[in-house]
Amino acid sequence: MSEATAAAPETRGFQAEVKQLLHLMIHSLYSNREIFLRELVSNASDACDKLRFEALSDPKLLEEDAALAIRVDYDREARTVTVADNGVGMSHDEAVANLGTIAKSGTREFFASLTGDQQKDAHLIGQFGVGFYSSFIVADRVTVLTRRAGLPAAEGVCWESDGGGEYSVRRVERAARGTEITLHLREGQEDLLDGTRLRTILRRYSDHILQPIRMPKEEWKDGASAKTAGEETVNQASALWARPKSGITEEEYKAFYKHVGHDFEDPLAWAHAKVEGRQEYTQLLYIPSRAPFDLWDRHARHGVKLYVRRVFIMDDAEQLLPAYLRFVRGVVDSNDLPLNVSREILQESKDIEAIRAGCAKRVLGLLEGLAQNEKEKYAAFWQAFGRVLKEGVGEDAANREKVAGLLRFASTHADTAEETVPLADYVARMKEGQAAIYYVTADTFNAARNSPHLEVFRKKGIEVLLLSDRVDEWVVSHLHEFAGKPLESVARGGLDLGGLEDEAEKKALEAEAGELKDLLGRIKASLGERVKDVRVTHRLTESPACLVADEHDVTANLARLLKAAGQSVPGAKPILEVNPRHPVVERLKGEQARFDDWASVLFDQALLAEGGSLDDPAAFVRRVNGLMLDLGGGASRIVLPGQG
Ligand code: ADP
Repeated sequence: MSEATAAAPETRGFQAEVKQLLHLMIHSLYSNREIFLRELVSNASDACDKLRFEALSDPKLLEEDAALAIRVDYDREARTVTVADNGVGMSHDEAVANLGTIAKSGTREFFASLTGDQQKDAHLIGQFGVGFYSSFIVADRVTVLTRRAGLPAAEGVCWESDGGGEYSVRRVERAARGTEITLHLREGQEDLLDGTRLRTILRRYSDHILQPIRMPKEEWKDGASAKTAGEETVNQASALWARPKSGITEEEYKAFYKHVGHDFEDPLAWAHAKVEGRQEYTQLLYIPSRAPFDLWDRHARHGVKLYVRRVFIMDDAEQLLPAYLRFVRGVVDSNDLPLNVSREILQESKDIEAIRAGCAKRVLGLLEGLAQNEKEKYAAFWQAFGRVLKEGVGEDAANREKVAGLLRFASTHADTAEETVPLADYVARMKEGQAAIYYVTADTFNAARNSPHLEVFRKKGIEVLLLSDRVDEWVVSHLHEFAGKPLESVARGGLDLGGLEDEAEKKALEAEAGELKDLLGRIKASLGERVKDVRVTHRLTESPACLVADEHDVTANLARLLKAAGQSVPGAKPILEVNPRHPVVERLKGEQARFDDWASVLFDQALLAEGGSLDDPAAFVRRVNGLMLDLGGGASRIVLPGQG
């Protein structure tokens, strides 16, 4: 580099988040300090991939230097370790943007989620992806020399920082294309100034890297290894996914995952297969152990890389998997797609549809295997990604039954929020004569479990699924049946228990309804616009009343969710069902003066019991107080069920 033509350095401040990340990383990842090499080699490899891809349409970018490689070296005197590549490099503006800021979406939220607990934060930072900044774990000064492929030598860039709040950047003359990163090691990092040590780290973490990683040859001299003339390749430098499965160790699979998944932790499971047929391709798909910080960001990166005949084409090829499987990481390598395939082409390609269907099937199969044979792992998966998988029942009609089979729900069978059951187990437990899979939806697990709608089910010993996740309403709106059994809300429609109903009981109920006809009419007239109808219930054993939605109306819970989301709710009025055997209802028959208050309270408490909120709570309180005073004034004491 000729200093004569170099521009004066310009000093800039890091983005606030970068400062925070640097500080945390240096302290919390110290015990894993050797990962810096994996991260830098991974970036170098990505840079080579990008250049190869750009060169498909512009071969001049390769200049006279088409053999892409990564070079790792060290210098004992200068106390430096260097990682260099002849990949795509960076322009001045790219260096500023890439090495001074964090462009990931959700960054701010991520930093807000850090706890200050080093151990926990180390995990989080690992998930966030530490990348280039991990250099500062071992170095107190980092120098980056780079030139973007296609730009003249005068457009080289020198970027430098001590990992404090600032960095400097200036233009320099640089003949070599690509990036060279020099780490000036901190005190105490001398062990890294050793060829054997560096080779060991590279083989452990970076063996699978597609490009050759070259190091100077060494020989043993005077009790230590020393560099000699020449270079050698220290990794396998072949596409891991293209090798036969039998020759790949578990460690190699895991290391490769950390590279493609930008993850710090081991994956939970993976599937590696060569698919033949109309489309020929290889898939190596991983399920991470933990949810990434941006799982809920619909614009977040999708983790599958597309290769065509070993040539990297693109990251985040979201067309390769449906969105509800966006947590999957890995590689798809097609033998048939054209090398110049673009995102736009992918969007419309029939071939891609076949690949996407194949990948979705592979992942669902992998999950089914876990659910059957590795229950603990499946539980961990469900914990991390269950809510995303639920989206699949709406999104992937072709695999709806498969996805439904993977879902887990709380149920009255276990009665705790943590123990969840698969639908298949529910079906296996169904009572003789039971025609449907019953569920209740509510805001919280407790509201679901204590819903008055469950009373008759408890009495008859029928299991009910307790759905309290926000997406559950949406899930059941798409999942109408499983294993040929319809899913039915306990809070909707006439609740036809069919074969579960006892004929004598049914008759008794009809008789009671006849007797109550008059009272039901009076309640309905009193409540007016608030109800669609008032009728006798067979759902309740202990409560005096409950609200149900008409067959095709939205349930109260869904109406609340829609309202909370700011959507207007179609004016569906609930049906009030009253329990003819309840003393309060009994008491109402003879009521005259305060009938309207009684009817209102009956309605309001039914609303409260299922987790709803009152339009006019103060009026409710006033009415209840009035009724309490009345009762105190000499009316016969009401005996409630269970207090008899
Ligand atoms: P990530 O790799 O997760 O995006 P990094 O902090 O490791 O995050 O790198 C930030 C960006 O800097 C990369 O996305 C890339 O654009 C650029 N970069 C890093 N190393 C290199 C390199 N060796 N050659 C070219 N660009 C690089």
